Formats: sequence, C-alpha cells, structure tokens
Amino acid sequence: MLSQRMIDLEAYVPGEQPQDQKYIKLNTNENPFGPCPEVEEVLKNFNTEELRLYPDPSSRELRQKIADLENLSPEQVFPGNGSDEVLSFCFYAFFDNRKGPILFPNPSYSFYSVYSNYYKIAFQEIPLTDQWQIELADYLKLSSSGVIFPNPNAPTGCALSLGVITSFLESYDSNNAVIIDEAYIDFGCETASTLINRFPNLIVIRTMSKGFSLAGVRLGYALGSEEVISALFTVKDSFNSYPINRLTQKIALAALGDQDYYSRVNQIIVSEREKLSRLLSHMGWKVLPSQANFIFTRHNEIPGKEVYEKLKSRGILVRWFNKPRINDFLRVTLGKPEENQKLISVIKELFS
Ligand code: PMP
Repeated sequence: MLSQRMIDLEAYVPGEQPQDQKYIKLNTNENPFGPCPEVEEVLKNFNTEELRLYPDPSSRELRQKIADLENLSPEQVFPGNGSDEVLSFCFYAFFDNRKGPILFPNPSYSFYSVYSNYYKIAFQEIPLTDQWQIELADYLKLSSSGVIFPNPNAPTGCALSLGVITSFLESYDSNNAVIIDEAYIDFGCETASTLINRFPNLIVIRTMSKGFSLAGVRLGYALGSEEVISALFTVKDSFNSYPINRLTQKIALAALGDQDYYSRVNQIIVSEREKLSRLLSHMGWKVLPSQANFIFTRHNEIPGKEVYEKLKSRGILVRWFNKPRINDFLRVTLGKPEENQKLISVIKELFS
C-alpha cells in the first residue's frame, strides 16, 4: 500500500513533549514566559462566529505588520504554519541539484537533512570548526546549489556577525539562494533582514515560537525579495490555501504589537543565560558562548547520556543528541530564574 517514496523516508524526531509527569522543561527551546497580555485579550474577545469562515489566505494584515517592523513591503513577507513549514517550502522552491549539493553546517538543525531527503536534494554538511563556529569561507570553496544555516546556530547557540555574513553574500554566487534561519534572533544576535534589499538571493526565516512565546500557535515567516515571496505563495497554494488559521493571525498580530513586553522577558532570558553559563563554567563544565535562549554544555567527565538521564530522573528535562561529536553535550533551554536555580542545585547535588 505504501508509495515507493515512503519506503526510505526518514522523519525528524522532535524533542519530547512528555505527558507522564510535570517536568522542569528545558528541552525544546520554548520561552518560559507566557505571551504578552494583549494575546489574552484577543482570545477573550474572539467572536466564535468568525470560525465559520476561512481565514484570509494571504494574511494581509499580519504581513503588513511584519513589513512595518522590518522596513520591508508586505510583498516581501511570507507567513506559514511554523517556520518548519516555511523552511520546507523554501527547500522546494529554491534548492535543487543543478550546480551541486546544497551546503549546511554540522552539527546544526537536523530538519535540513530531512527536507533534503524528502525533496531528493543532494546535500553536503560542512563541519563546524574546532571552536564550534560556522566557517563560511569553507562554503565558498565548493560548488553548490545553495546554502542554509541558522544564525545563531542550533544546537550550539554560537552566532556569526553581520559583517561576516555580508562578506559571504558579496562573494557567493548571487544566483543561488542563501537561507538564514533566524529562529533564535530575539536573544541578542544581529538580524540579516537589513541585507535583503541588497542581496535578492537572501532569504531570512523567523519564528514566533521562541522570542514571542507562541510555539503552540505555529507561526513562522520568510523575508525576501518580492520574487522569492511570490514563489513561496505558489508553493503554498499548491499545498494548502489556508495554513494559518484565523486565531493564529490575530494572536500573532497582537504579539507583534507589544515589542516592549518581549524585549523585557527576553532580556531576562539573556541575563539568565549569562548567569547559568558563568556558574556552569565555574563548576568546570564546558559551555559554548550562546546568543540563543539555550546553552550547549558538557561535563568534563560524565557522558552526556548519563547526565541527561540523571537530570530526567530528578524531573528536569534537557535535550541530548545521540550524534557523533556532540553526544556528550546537552542543550539546555533557559527557564524562569527559579527553574534555572533548581537546575544548578540539582547539578551540584548530582555531579559535584
Ligand atoms: N529552525 C531552528 C533552528 C529551530 O531550532 C526550530 C525549532 N525546532 C525551527 C526552525 C522551527 O521552529 P517552528 O516550526 O516552531 O517555527
């Protein structure tokens, strides 16, 4: 019964969303703080009668709001059902095998190889340097059909400067797409969205799951040239005319309207990140310099799997990747100050 193409399809495995008990949940990079108060107002005042009707298929109002915030036009904004969906559409629209493989870092976001396999796009993973950095000069040495990387990278949290990204775009083939996945941009790293009008091959991807506390709502978007965005609409309209429901459009709009609230809570996350990094380093753990809402860290002796399991047995869930080179590391999402405090005291108890 299965189609031929299903047979070797390997799906992405997301982090656990446990239902068995209550954990301090530091494993999927959700924001520990709730959405801004205006989101609650939207829900309270929502007219359920509206649900009878399909949503606006082009999310006009939402795109206008994003465009205003980014100094772009609404025709340069494509929203989707989470940035995963937007990424998938980008792979379909901009990557193929004509000039060679597409290039992305390793370790990085593991959905990139899943999409490549799904669309039968050849890829080459470029190892991070010994210092866990993306070295874009390595990408220029190879023939390729396109490039994608997160900035900051995941799961390391390490970021590239806008200067480095600009020099890369100046040197790389302007006929190939360069996709920068800015899922974690709201925690201190510089956006490349300001380069979009200068480099029409640049596509910036964002999510409201992290910096806007809306992982449950599913809203991501792409920023790019009008040509890029129009191609993404064609992909969407060949797949599902209405991926963003009415509530999501309203909630996202309300959240984008309260930048002050999010600057405040995300600033707390940034200071918690610096504090947790300092404390773990003092305890002898290796901690990579992060610009995201998580840190990537390892104990100097105890295997990562053991640390992960012991923390889980104490009700603290972090992310462990069973992959070469990083299997002694843990990715720890920053929680609320009291949750991070609890993490530190459990670590002291278990591993000192
Ligand atoms: N890009 C990166 C680098 C991520 O870590 C994630 C979250 N797993 C996503 C994209 C997808 O986020 P979402 O689909 O929730 O917008």
